Amino acid sequence: MHPPLMETYKRYPIKIVKGKGSWVWDEKGKKYLDFTSGIAVLNLGHVPQEVKEMLQQQLDAVWHTSNLFHIPSQEELAKKLTEVSVADQVFFCNSGTEANEGAIKLARLYAHKILGKKGSEIITFTHSFHGRTLGSLSATAQEHLQKGFEPLLEGFRYLPYNDMEALNELVGENTIAVMLEFIQGEGGVIPAEEEWLKKLYTIVKENGLLLIADEVQTGMGRTGSLFAYEEYHIEPDIITLAKGLGSGFPIGAILAKKEVAAAFTPGTHGSTFGGNPLSTTAGLATLKVLTREGFLDEVKRKSQMLKEGLLQLEKKFSFLTVRGKGFLLGIQPKGDVGTFITMARERGVLLLTAGSGVIRILPPLTVTEEEIKEFLQVMEEIFAAYALTTQGV
Ligand SMILES: *Cc1c(COP(=O)(O)O)cnc(C)c1O
Repeated sequence: MHPPLMETYKRYPIKIVKGKGSWVWDEKGKKYLDFTSGIAVLNLGHVPQEVKEMLQQQLDAVWHTSNLFHIPSQEELAKKLTEVSVADQVFFCNSGTEANEGAIKLARLYAHKILGKKGSEIITFTHSFHGRTLGSLSATAQEHLQKGFEPLLEGFRYLPYNDMEALNELVGENTIAVMLEFIQGEGGVIPAEEEWLKKLYTIVKENGLLLIADEVQTGMGRTGSLFAYEEYHIEPDIITLAKGLGSGFPIGAILAKKEVAAAFTPGTHGSTFGGNPLSTTAGLATLKVLTREGFLDEVKRKSQMLKEGLLQLEKKFSFLTVRGKGFLLGIQPKGDVGTFITMARERGVLLLTAGSGVIRILPPLTVTEEEIKEFLQVMEEIFAAYALTTQGV
């Protein structure tokens, strides 16, 4: 018998029926500490009160109108996003991959229509993840994700991430843009090295290329700044957002400098659902909390505490390597990652993987010190248990 759902996911054997803050409950009432945050989506935790209240009001007012009309919450969220970022204009869509599709279209249109360039090549990097639709998948330099879906979209060239030498080959005759994640999330929690990024940025600027920052995972406070580019003193021309933007309500966005955004004129791009009253209300409420005085300072402080705890485990257990920034952290163990994820789940902690061999740690940004301590305790327990079975590796 075939199941009614297409089998695109390998799911954990849990049915979650309730969530609050950093916690979820399954249908038997068992409680778990959720350090997956719905894959970097629930930056304010489960069912955040302020988002819920604003959404409830919007539910009573109007749900959907389409972009045939002005949508006040959409205009307000765009205004707020331009106030807190280096971008001047915003386009709303529904997901990360769609934001990247739009960014690819915008970069091409800007190069062709405004700069009069003939080329359309966009550079992306090994281990990147930009999404599952064909354009974004073509930008995603991971063969195992692309395999079988050929022909892919033309116009991408891949370079090795964090490779200084390779930057000499960045600019080709047809190159118009560079697209990257400042911390590769799905690809294995791999932060960009500062020197490499500095050189990349210099080359981009000297050659008049566009810089597209895929902040779908790193954005909305995840790394301790509202956007990861702030950590590197870089000004992208285009920024894509999704995951954390709506606290669980599907929404994506393309943010761009006004010169670039000018390429999009009526009829060039669009979306039926994009920026609808409910999703942009969720976005507004989320951004309101994230930009509240002191909120991100707390994220920095708590994430530092978590990282220090993990570094202590790294010191204690020789089979671990820890990396990442803010609340986008990874542990690379020698040994099967699935085993550790299962061990943690059995002890009431939910975690996910990244790449092929990394445990990804994505607590909500609202996680408490107590919860971080509880988490570290469980991790120490499972690594100690593992060390025992393998005689320390
Ligand atoms: C998750 C992710 C995407 C894709 O987002 P979807 O909403 O799943 O389409 C794109 N880029 C990055 C960096 C991501 O982490």
